[in-house]
Amino acid sequence: MANVQCDKCQKYFDIKQREKKHGRGIVETYFTCPHCKAKYTAFVLNAEARRLQREIKGLTQKQFTASTEEEREHAAKDLIKSKEKLARLMEELKKQHPTINVNVNATGPEPADQRASPLDADQTAGAPGGTQ
Ligand SMILES: [Zn+2]
Repeated sequence: MANVQCDKCQKYFDIKQREKKHGRGIVETYFTCPHCKAKYTAFVLNAEARRLQREIKGLTQKQFTASTEEEREHAAKDLIKSKEKLARLMEELKKQHPTINVNVNATGPEPADQRASPLDADQTAGAPGGTQ
């Protein structure tokens, strides 16, 4: 696991990613420094970003399963487009949620997340633009 240095206390720690739901399908992936509790946002995903992630996954597979060269090239082009779209979207989301403080449960229960279903829990590691 990646060993990073905390900006605040300069100590080293292993990243242990956690997820926090912000409602409306927005899920923030973050980690905290175990020494000083500084919080770092790794990335923020919404429904559209997750859709793009699935699309990218599908297109990546399609590149390998394509029966013709043309099909493969088409998938490769779409893949680049989708990756760019996702990168831009994630940048935007991160700007919109720069430092969401982890005041756990400070604001009371969140509205029921209607969209959350166990089937949607395909959180594959290594999202593009994630932590290094
Ligand atoms: Zn720290």
